[in-house]
Amino acid sequence: MRIVAGEVIVSSPGRNFVTLKLVTDDGVVGYGDGTVNGRERAVEGYLQHLIPLLIGRDATRIEDTWQYLYRGAYWRRGPITMASISAVDQALWDISGKALGVPVHRLLGGTSRDYLMTYPHCTGMTVDEVVDEAAAKLEEGYKAIRVQAAVPGLATTYGVHAHADDEETGAYEPASGALPDEEIWDTKLYLDFVPKLVKRVRDELGYGFELLHDSHHRLTPIEAGWLGKQLEPYRMFWLEDATPAEDQAAFRLIRQHTTTPLAVGEVFNSWFDYQTLITERLIDFVRTPVTHGGGITHLRQLMGVADFYGVRSGFHGPSDISPVGMAANCHLSWSIHNFGVQEYMGYPEQVSKVFTRFPVVENGVVVLDDTPGLGVEIDEDAAKRFPFDPKYLPVNRKTDGTLHDW
Ligand SMILES: [Mg+2]
Repeated sequence: MRIVAGEVIVSSPGRNFVTLKLVTDDGVVGYGDGTVNGRERAVEGYLQHLIPLLIGRDATRIEDTWQYLYRGAYWRRGPITMASISAVDQALWDISGKALGVPVHRLLGGTSRDYLMTYPHCTGMTVDEVVDEAAAKLEEGYKAIRVQAAVPGLATTYGVHAHADDEETGAYEPASGALPDEEIWDTKLYLDFVPKLVKRVRDELGYGFELLHDSHHRLTPIEAGWLGKQLEPYRMFWLEDATPAEDQAAFRLIRQHTTTPLAVGEVFNSWFDYQTLITERLIDFVRTPVTHGGGITHLRQLMGVADFYGVRSGFHGPSDISPVGMAANCHLSWSIHNFGVQEYMGYPEQVSKVFTRFPVVENGVVVLDDTPGLGVEIDEDAAKRFPFDPKYLPVNRKTDGTLHDW
């Protein structure tokens, strides 16, 4: 079964998505997600370099193709390279599953559990709003929730917006073609506020669910250690992205000061971003999604090593990872032993006009789908009706104007 054609589909049904389509000589079509929010054209360009390398290759040789694109290239790693390799890898797993008539999780060893616990985002302009939102999600059946609220005294806060740009997900939706929004950050206001937010949620709703919070790379290691210690009484499932992720050694300092579990890695793309963190047992959860982590092939290998160190998965699942990437996350999550949780933020309504079938959440858990391959269907004619829409994520400044981590 040879690859005979490849095409990059960049479309924007509410969000920009980069989808690779590969076709084999017997007509099997596979899809892979390579979306990197705000840098979509870079992935598209990288994939244009890869497509000629794929034509004529045996589509069933997934591992060999992965090594050919990673080890065979002089330039390794990095978000654009690894998202592009991931898109190819997902498309090949999709093709193999479809050719054999089995879902990808069967190719990976079958399901290791009865359901995939997911968590949604519970946000609000006030703590009361967050508590109400969290109560509603728990009522829907969610077993885990992430809580974020507007920090009093700050005009904007990461993950929280006065007007949900997308009604369905509450996701941030920047203006088309505009330069990045600039938000203002004040660490002292944030650190004073978050323990109160978390305490209120536990006081009002109890301890019968998993509770998560994201600091979005904004803290220093010693600030993160302090915050983790304040949150210990509330038995967090995790504190996410406490410090800028690329400084692995910083986690040694955080770990010395708190027993609150730590999650990091949504901006990572390789085992080598985790080597210190995992082998020194400095984190508890891997956040890298399939889309940004070199594909199912690399992330499965990474999770295999992580399992030996007691580190579990919590793959990134925002609405700027396409339904193809979300499906790939889910197949890997079904199959690995060390699953923790799957983030599932949800999608704007238009997404389903292009991605006409993809994994769904019911009663707070991902519904097992035995559709062959990744189980995602795409209406390519519809995709053409939603052309690429240039947008940027915001940037972040301290109150004195100094640029800070987003
Ligand atoms: Mg995060």
